[in-house]
Amino acid sequence: MASLPRIGLLLTGGTIDSVGTDRLDLAWYIEAGKRLGAGELLKQLPELAKIAAVEEIPFRRLPSQALVNADWLDLVRKIHAIFDRDRADGLVITHGTNTLEETAYFLNLTLKTVKPVVIVGAMRPASAVSADGYLNVINAVRVAAAPQSRGRGCLVVMNDTVFNARDVTKNATYRVQAFASRDLGPLGYADADGKVIYYHQPMKRHTTQSEFDVRGLQSLPRVDIVLSYANADGIMIEAAAKAGAKAIVSAATGAGRPTPAQDEAFDRVYREQGTIMCLCSRVGSGRVVRSPGLKRRGFVAGDNLPPWKARILLSLALSKTNNADDIQQMFDTY
Ligand code: GLU
Repeated sequence: MASLPRIGLLLTGGTIDSVGTDRLDLAWYIEAGKRLGAGELLKQLPELAKIAAVEEIPFRRLPSQALVNADWLDLVRKIHAIFDRDRADGLVITHGTNTLEETAYFLNLTLKTVKPVVIVGAMRPASAVSADGYLNVINAVRVAAAPQSRGRGCLVVMNDTVFNARDVTKNATYRVQAFASRDLGPLGYADADGKVIYYHQPMKRHTTQSEFDVRGLQSLPRVDIVLSYANADGIMIEAAAKAGAKAIVSAATGAGRPTPAQDEAFDRVYREQGTIMCLCSRVGSGRVVRSPGLKRRGFVAGDNLPPWKARILLSLALSKTNNADDIQQMFDTY
């Protein structure tokens, strides 16, 4: 028998390894602060032995909204160290669902590997009746072990579905079908017959084709997000600039309309501090385009990235350049 693919399993926390107060604790388990011990998730999945040689590799475990840039930078270095030493053919990373898509997009832009890196979460804790995490992990291992997953960038597996990191987003607070790629659809499925089937290829540049290499970085430029809503004034924009933001993502109304007071503040902080604005939408679907006026003001447009993903790309872009046209080129590419 050919030897099984070697898959590393990195646990970063979240719901998937959380333990609630009882089997119907589907909501407060994060407050209970209890997790499966080292090796326990794997112990409950003996079926994996037929799919891959899975090795648990320790990493810090946190609720995903607690992760900061330093965790992402360490994770990138950890993943490279694993692959550089040829310890695995692919990786599965368990992650809280709240910011899962942000970590996935960050890795998609910064990892220098064609080996599959698959992020997986769960909507119900490990202790729940009908916990979804166990099958999600088996599916994620199948995806990471599948030769056809190589070179597709960082992948996300939830609810039998394979998504690409750039387009996937959390779409519901509690449903097991919480993740979707909205306008663009999933890449494929880890299906009921145990097969991994792809129907699409990511078209935006990623991983080995990306110009972003953060392995030597200890920090990233500060980028904040400011939401628009009826009556919003410029105070939050000024506060962000004062806090040292090198750029601000505008989560604007509609197809990219901050309020007039916000527009004034964006122009002011740009004039005074060179703070670039990246125009995105709070709508959750569709592109925001770079109008001649936006270009003239020295600003960029976030295409169809949600504000929190535009923030990541902008921060990486600013680690290389302050030129708005060059940054726009990156938004058109990634
Ligand atoms: N559903 C969990 C919560 O909101 C997700 C936790 C996480 O992302 O770590 O509490």
